[in-house]
Amino acid sequence: MRILIVEDDPSVADGIIDGLESANFQALHVSTGVDALAALDAFDPELVLLDLGLPDMDGTDVCRQIRKVSPVPIIVVSARDEEIDRVIALEIGADDYVVKPFGMRELVARIKAVARRTAGVEQPATSSPERAFGPLRIDTRSIRVSLAGEEVHLTPKEFELLVYLSEDPGAVHRRTDILHDVWDTNWYGTTKTLDAHVAAIRKKLGNPAWIESVRGVGFRFGIPT
Ligand code: CA
Repeated sequence: MRILIVEDDPSVADGIIDGLESANFQALHVSTGVDALAALDAFDPELVLLDLGLPDMDGTDVCRQIRKVSPVPIIVVSARDEEIDRVIALEIGADDYVVKPFGMRELVARIKAVARRTAGVEQPATSSPERAFGPLRIDTRSIRVSLAGEEVHLTPKEFELLVYLSEDPGAVHRRTDILHDVWDTNWYGTTKTLDAHVAAIRKKLGNPAWIESVRGVGFRFGIPT
């Protein structure tokens, strides 16, 4: 697995490179946001580890820019550990978040968890890659969503959430189940993040009725009438 490490502190980067290589990952290290964006094409990473404090660009902007052009999983690495940053990390399109200092075992476990989740999105074992719901098409193989033929750009997490909810249209999914299944147990308690993602999907699909709120319980996917 090819992992792009974006980190301006050489001692932190060296530690991560050593750890990833001994876990049999292939690592490429860059120290700036500009180099990170360039490496997307050149290195074609399967996962990006992105430090938020970079010398040339804000890491959140780097994350947003990567997300505009690529669905590659992103784990944000930061020294800042306030809740607001966790929420922001998810909202800018990151798939997970680790706070410095972290152990290599934790990092490798997070990388594997994110890789498993995103691989699951690409190749669901139980359903065909394209599903159609009225004008909405969800293709889990190419990770594309279109509405009446127009492509809808979702973040990986929004995509995962939409796929999850649409697997059983009409069924009510409890918040705790959604957080557990889509966000992993790490994200328990951050239901604001779930609401933000639901709001973003509704906005992008142009109709809140695609994801109906079920008061006190959770959410239900349905085709607007
Ligand atoms: Ca830094």
